[in-house]
Amino acid sequence: MEEEQDLPEFWFQFSAATKKQEFSVLRDYLELYARSEHAFIAVSPILSPKLHADLATVTFAGDHHDDLKTGIQPFVAMDGSEEYRAAAMDLARSYGLLYERDHGVSLSDLAQLKVSKELRSYPSTFYDLDRSLGLFGNLLGAVLGNVHPLTVAYRPFWDSFRKRYQTRLITEIDGRKFIKAVHILRSVQLQCYDWFEAKRTRTPPDTPNFQTIWKQIGLNSYNLPTLPPSLYFQVYPKANLIRPPPADQASKTPSLASTEDASTTSTISTLTGVTGATGPTGLLSRTTTPRAGAMVVNENPDPHLVSLIPFNKKLKDIMGNTQSPSTDTGETICLSYHAKGGCFTNCRRKSTHGITLSLAEKGRVENYIADRLTKMEP
Ligand SMILES: [Zn+2]
Repeated sequence: MEEEQDLPEFWFQFSAATKKQEFSVLRDYLELYARSEHAFIAVSPILSPKLHADLATVTFAGDHHDDLKTGIQPFVAMDGSEEYRAAAMDLARSYGLLYERDHGVSLSDLAQLKVSKELRSYPSTFYDLDRSLGLFGNLLGAVLGNVHPLTVAYRPFWDSFRKRYQTRLITEIDGRKFIKAVHILRSVQLQCYDWFEAKRTRTPPDTPNFQTIWKQIGLNSYNLPTLPPSLYFQVYPKANLIRPPPADQASKTPSLASTEDASTTSTISTLTGVTGATGPTGLLSRTTTPRAGAMVVNENPDPHLVSLIPFNKKLKDIMGNTQSPSTDTGETICLSYHAKGGCFTNCRRKSTHGITLSLAEKGRVENYIADRLTKMEP
């Protein structure tokens, strides 16, 4: 995918190495980089069997932006806890020995090495983040070279991380805990993916700008990137607890409306925000401040009104401090019930739950939501 002449000198040595030497040549090179003057930190990323395979086939990006196991991106370089690192290093060492003895390492050999999915350990503290970003810098610099656009963009990002935003990030990640270390890694990973994807589709890639991540955090305007489901549920393990009950149990749960059809379940999941692993806000507010009152499900929501609320926006944010439109008789329409598909029995606008909106009322709701959405755009 890369133009050969753009890659560091190392790749010529690598291609000259025999199959058996490949693994140790690569590992030694990564370690050498971590000791060089260009190193981001003095620790080398571990050459896992997967990373080895990707590098040997010059696979720098996965096929999908949610693939966190492939290519040159921060989730590949991170190493989580000391225990994790020790285990991963053990695995890499055994793999290396096996590989050098007989380069046809089979899957059953790997299975014997106990390649466990549980081995993955996501960084959670500022310290972990610091280390993961440093390891990724080393991987980037070593593999793509110091003059590659991604490395060139990454260095000022790293410098301002260490020199300028450290205190702020400690507050955010170890203190407030709304921004997680993995969100930062995810933002970096997506930028890398975007860059490689542009290359792959032969469109000119934008100059990556990792520094906007710090800038946005500094200005309180950082949008948490969406996390793939597997990662999401590791980061927010409590989210598992509030999954909607299976359809056959929905009717037995006293707090839920006593309807049994499939649409009930989907409406409930819309309300609890569990369907999309898009962000913590809905889930966290739901777990920390449970709403009193039982859920009321709108079994026949107007599909057009429902379609007006984008999946990634919360009704509360769309409305801001404004009042939703009124019915023809002057009562405030509950948008949660009519446009989101459900509400709660203790709602202030519950008098409008269950009514069928007139054409004029619907029109007002449509205009109101459209107007609020345009005011939300940056
Ligand atoms: Zn309501």
